[in-house]
Amino acid sequence: MENYDVIIVGGGPAGLTAGIYTGRQNLKTLILDKELAGGQAREVPVIDNYPGFSMVSGLEIIEKTKSQTSKYADIHEFEEVLDVFNENHSFIVKTSKGEYTSKAIILTTGSRHRQLDVKGENEHLGKGVSYCATCDGMFFKGKDILVVGGGNTAAIDAIYLKDLGCNVTLVHRRDRLRCQKYLEDQLIESKIPIIWNTTVEAIEGEPLVSNVKLLNKDGTKSEISVNGVFIAVGDIPHNKIAEKLNLKLSDDGSILCDKYQRTGLCNVYAAGDVTGGLKQWIVACGEGAVAAISAYEDIIKNS
Ligand code: NAP
Repeated sequence: MENYDVIIVGGGPAGLTAGIYTGRQNLKTLILDKELAGGQAREVPVIDNYPGFSMVSGLEIIEKTKSQTSKYADIHEFEEVLDVFNENHSFIVKTSKGEYTSKAIILTTGSRHRQLDVKGENEHLGKGVSYCATCDGMFFKGKDILVVGGGNTAAIDAIYLKDLGCNVTLVHRRDRLRCQKYLEDQLIESKIPIIWNTTVEAIEGEPLVSNVKLLNKDGTKSEISVNGVFIAVGDIPHNKIAEKLNLKLSDDGSILCDKYQRTGLCNVYAAGDVTGGLKQWIVACGEGAVAAISAYEDIIKNS
């Protein structure tokens, strides 16, 4: 069983940043990610609000960050954490490939896409339904697309898909968008039609998506013919490990922590999207750095 000072669960922006900070403090650090490091951050088509970078893809920043972090931490991809428990003042981390110990744990487990939970959604996954415009957009060039949602992701996806050459319509359940103003302006500028006050009732087509049933708030039902449905209706935190550790969670399942990213359980910290709040790349990195500094201080204090 290999021993580490710090084990970071999740290799997105928060986890990779935490790894830079702990590694540079000479703490032996392991980052575990059940998939490729980067998580949902890999899917972001364009980022223009990260200082020093302009109009860059999530994949590009992640690859650069991963290469930087690998100088300071071991990064194990495709290794899922199955269990974490406290034993004799250290943590035992059981994964799909082995077992490790550590003095501290930083949870940067991120979040997963929220589903619409409507008829035909699961059945058409990969057959016209997607949660990732960057991954699947290119298959829909010249095709009719419905983007669902009114937040930043929906706006960014709609604009990205339109720029790719898709014929995009946005559907939103309210009469106002939630996204930032500059994205709303871009949506208007790109003349993407928006269907307001409307929800998706069912996604249909055999075997590929061919039409979507819609329901307006006033009770009016309609149908739209599309080849693809890109769903961008928010995220649900990955809190399985947090639950195993009995951490305090908010009503939406995010991990609660203080401003030093301490969770309340000794030597356990959390950072990034799994903590809820402002889901911004730079916030995730900042929280990752703070969690790492707190871990360093606590390890030194207790050694
Ligand atoms: P979000 O901000 O939570 O927005 C989700 C959208 O989906 C909302 O408009 C919501 O409607 C709608 N929605 C939720 N459940 C729905 C349902 N069952 N049916 C229909 N519509 C539904 O999610 P997001 O856009 O994925 O963004 C997630 C987080 O990442 C946010 O904090 C966001 O600010 C951040 N983010 C930031 C950037 C950036 O800074 N450039 C880019 C992407 C994401 P209501 O408006 O009615 O609630």
